[in-house]
Amino acid sequence: MDTAEQRRRMVERHVEARGVHHAGVLKAMRHVPREAFLPAHLAEFAYEDTPLPIEEGQTISQPFIVAAMAEALELGPEDRVLEIGTGSGYAAAVLGEVAREVYTVERHRSLAEQAESRLKSLGYRNVHVLCGDGTLGWPEQAPFDAILVSAGGPNVPSLLLEQLAPGGRIVIPVGSDLRDQRLLRVTKKPDGTTSTEDLGGVRFVPLIGAGGFPEGVGAPKPTTPAGPASPIAHLIREACQPITGIDDLDLGPLLDQIGDARVVLLGEATHGTSEFYRMRTRITAELVMRRGFNMVAIEGDWPDAARVDHHVRGLKFPLRDDLTFTRFPAWMWRNREVVELITWLKSHNEVVEDPRRRVGFHGLDLYSLYKSLDAVLHYLDDVDPKAAKIARERYACLSPWERDPALYGRAAITEGYARCERPVVDVLRDLLEHRLDYAKADGDRFFDAASNAHLVAAAEEYYRVMYYGGPASWNLRDQHMFDTLERLLSFRGPDSKAVVWAHNSHVGDARATEMGAARGEHNIGQLCRQAFGDEAFSIGFGTHTGTVAAATDWDGPMQIKRVRPSHPASYERLCHDAGVAAFLLALRYPARDSVREELGSPRLERAIGVIYRPETELQSHYFQAALPWQFDAYVWFNETRAVEALELDVARAEIPHVYG
Ligand code: SAH
Repeated sequence: MDTAEQRRRMVERHVEARGVHHAGVLKAMRHVPREAFLPAHLAEFAYEDTPLPIEEGQTISQPFIVAAMAEALELGPEDRVLEIGTGSGYAAAVLGEVAREVYTVERHRSLAEQAESRLKSLGYRNVHVLCGDGTLGWPEQAPFDAILVSAGGPNVPSLLLEQLAPGGRIVIPVGSDLRDQRLLRVTKKPDGTTSTEDLGGVRFVPLIGAGGFPEGVGAPKPTTPAGPASPIAHLIREACQPITGIDDLDLGPLLDQIGDARVVLLGEATHGTSEFYRMRTRITAELVMRRGFNMVAIEGDWPDAARVDHHVRGLKFPLRDDLTFTRFPAWMWRNREVVELITWLKSHNEVVEDPRRRVGFHGLDLYSLYKSLDAVLHYLDDVDPKAAKIARERYACLSPWERDPALYGRAAITEGYARCERPVVDVLRDLLEHRLDYAKADGDRFFDAASNAHLVAAAEEYYRVMYYGGPASWNLRDQHMFDTLERLLSFRGPDSKAVVWAHNSHVGDARATEMGAARGEHNIGQLCRQAFGDEAFSIGFGTHTGTVAAATDWDGPMQIKRVRPSHPASYERLCHDAGVAAFLLALRYPARDSVREELGSPRLERAIGVIYRPETELQSHYFQAALPWQFDAYVWFNETRAVEALELDVARAEIPHVYG
């Protein structure tokens, strides 16, 4: 596709679609070649709607923002415009196409000179560049009809207001905290008074100068330059173990690093990538056969996983008759790759004499409130009908909310409304009090029922806490996963060892990410490290591009989506630049100390969950992390493909006992 066509599409999808209508601005956006304002290695991203790094640690603004700001200036063809923060010169060029004259000021000499020569060679005779402190304005050329400030200051510089003509508009990001800026439009009325409008939250580099922040505010930490030739990409290439094939990869070195760990956590960067599943199956099989691991615990529902467990361990107790892995997102556990895992576990277990050594399969998540509640009642109906009657009355408290448990959370915080906390905890307590009697008949079956009762109690709290937002509900969910894991390990005895399958965002130590550091969220990876120390080993997974199974909205249909090539400032991009199609990288015991040091300063990392929105990828899917602190090892597949999701009847035909 030629660049004019790319620009046309960008404007249509990211600028017009989001509400910019100013004809002059749209025309300019379709015309200015953004790639000419970027460092050469980033030119391929010119028409992604994202800000990008330029020289001097600055950024070129996101196209949509440039358009929205230009529109907010209400420019006419006769206007004289002042811009503060030339940067790459891109916004100045856009303004130059809409207004009569543009005066733009940049404090970094190298940027000012570079922008000036670019603008000149592209033929912008009406754009004038000055190197200096833009918070002082450009008095010789004042007054201006419009002023655009492309960097965020603590307030609106007074000298800029002075240089505004009556009727003129300033658009400027303002905020004393760089993470919390508002885009303001200040209009000067003919009588000299001003009015201010808030146009929304934004994020810009700091405005540094007499009327802005002091030098050094928001200064970027020096990071090693990126690109295929960068020393860090080279280091990864040298330190990694290439993966030529998932099935014949030598896992000896990884097993050495894992040592005597009791818990190995296997992550995934998406919930729908085939390679991640297949590699985890391979590692799991190795841990089972060579290290005596005897359970797999997944980020999935307990009752659904219990069916798999029943199948692979050949348990005998009667199962409740309901469907498995049918709720959204069904593709996560009803796919070809998981069928292969289950088939392997089954055939492995069949030749293990000692039932205690057979590999179990369990769910750690808490989204099955009503299924679990039914399972508890079903169990009690069988073993203790009197207790079942009491439990049924207690659980009835939750029954009005079955269709939308989140509504229960809202109702429960309304004063005077009966909360179900007491009754669900009472059911659990009664069940545990009868542990000895109940477990006598069938320990596995009792454990299954107790786990469901624990889940109901945790989920009841989860939905209540969720209503308040913040980190509490996330923390409760991961705490539940961890507690369930601990109960499993103690139930299966001191020799038991678990492999956990969950998303990177659960298994990587949250303290090494923005979630932990800034939002106070913890996760199962962190809790395992805190509880098991070196006996917890966490492996992250990543990809550069390819296809993925994901939905656009919660409960929406599964789609096969293209994964956008990784962001230039991300870990994924470093791995891509290493130029090895797939690899294993040791982080706890790196081949060289420099691996931890070089990779240790925070970068962007991508997380794709059950929802993937490529259009807003940077905002919705990237976060800051310090990879070597997050994981003990990292598995990389440069190009990946979506899991093969299975229709219910196909899955049924494969393993009727599980999916039937
Ligand atoms: N409009 C630019 C965005 C550049 S980012 C583009 O389209 O590429 C903001 C720029 O403001 C940076 O280059 C930064 O160096 C510059 N800047 C910050 N404070 C400044 C000041 N007081 N005077 C002039 N430029 C400033």
